Amino acid sequence: MDNLTLEQRKKNMQNIRYKDTKMEILVRSALHKKGLRFRKNLSKLSGKPDIVFSKKKVVIFLDSCFWHLCPYHHTIPQTNPNYWVPKLKRNKKRAKEVNYQLKKEGWTVLRFWEHQVKNDFDKVIKKILVAVQ
Ligand SMILES: [Zn+2]
Repeated sequence: MDNLTLEQRKKNMQNIRYKDTKMEILVRSALHKKGLRFRKNLSKLSGKPDIVFSKKKVVIFLDSCFWHLCPYHHTIPQTNPNYWVPKLKRNKKRAKEVNYQLKKEGWTVLRFWEHQVKNDFDKVIKKILVAVQ
């Protein structure tokens, strides 16, 4: 069944999490440099947005290509697809529900893919700036 050892798989998952965190830190520090103030991972809000501008009612989500099934970069892990496929599909469905809920509460919701942050960083920051102006 499985080519990876448990240890290797754990390491892969840690790499993915580490990449997510790094992406959040990059975006947050760029926004800080622009003089913006915001909250992060506000758990009282649906979906626990990565960045929250309370006064402007804008929330930002940074979606990992892996966890959110990016159409360009996502690959289903070969190990244990029966576990991963439903789990990742649920993530995607949940993100839609979160968008819907937040918009209903009057929030502007911005979602960026990990690959946008990686390849179009300035554009991502600019879009955020425009939204919170
Ligand atoms: Zn992607």
